[in-house]
Amino acid sequence: MKLGSEDALVEWLRQRSGRAGHTLLGDDGAVISAQGEWAVTLDHQIAGVHFPEGLDPALVARRLLAVNASDLAAMGAQPRFAFLALAVPPDFDARRLLASLSRECTRLGVELAGGDVAKSPTATTSLTLLGSKSPKGRWLSRSNGRAGDLLWVGGSLGESAAGRLLLARGARMSGRRVELPKRIGTDRGIAAAARRAVRRHLLPKPQLELGRWLAGRSRVAAIDLSDGLALDLHRLCRESGVGATLESDALPRPARFADLCRELDQDPLELTLTGGEDYVLLFTLSPSQKPPGDFGCTRVGRLTDGRKVQLTTADGTQALAAGGWDHFETDPWSPS
Ligand SMILES: [Mg+2]
Repeated sequence: MKLGSEDALVEWLRQRSGRAGHTLLGDDGAVISAQGEWAVTLDHQIAGVHFPEGLDPALVARRLLAVNASDLAAMGAQPRFAFLALAVPPDFDARRLLASLSRECTRLGVELAGGDVAKSPTATTSLTLLGSKSPKGRWLSRSNGRAGDLLWVGGSLGESAAGRLLLARGARMSGRRVELPKRIGTDRGIAAAARRAVRRHLLPKPQLELGRWLAGRSRVAAIDLSDGLALDLHRLCRESGVGATLESDALPRPARFADLCRELDQDPLELTLTGGEDYVLLFTLSPSQKPPGDFGCTRVGRLTDGRKVQLTTADGTQALAAGGWDHFETDPWSPS
């Protein structure tokens, strides 16, 4: 059994994660010295639900931290403390997961402050992440949007969903190496796009710096795109009490995306709008503001009076359905 005894595992983790002899692990509860307001979030990563069975535990750990950090990015917060709940089968390499999580926590300036380990028939991981407010910042909120604000996204869309489809059809990733299903690898450009898509899906990059920049502006609405642009835009509009118009031509897509979608027999616009797990920020700014160019943001529409959420294409403007990821309706690992 690779879990080892719980005490041995905690001791091993203390040795790794203690900063200059200091660690919050070891007592029954973590004592945290904290002032002011904090943002708190929690997300799961479950085998067969959020990631394919048999995925490298080091990648599971990085994805777990990234999806939680993305929620804090959408609040404009700086992640500071993490609490892990880990329930895994006896043959799961828990030390590999913990070593990877510990490394990623250090990289993001997060202290792994506590948690619990248990045996379970399915690998289930969940992380609670606490984030502090920027010194002169404000919280971002889904409800801060006003009619007339411009809508922006922090990066390209649809690529992660393409990566999930590739994994469902047999793609595999270990370390940085991605193996593709045979049929995909025939065109080098498309194969490169496919590998990028798998990496993007498994290793999202939370937009923490962008979130902190936005927290320094006044009255910014933001949400991280986890369930698809269409559904998450509806959520932002509902909380802000406004409508929106999206411009389909403006939606940023990665290189060779249309070709990759053709290989996967998918409609690029559909995947862009509803594929989900993009983990970039959707946010609003007043028309006089613009994010610095190096964040790579794109203006994709505007907020409007009323409650209609619409999409403008070459065929005109039509209602945009709130379609996207739904845990109780979508099978994540269906290959189609
Ligand atoms: Mg979120």
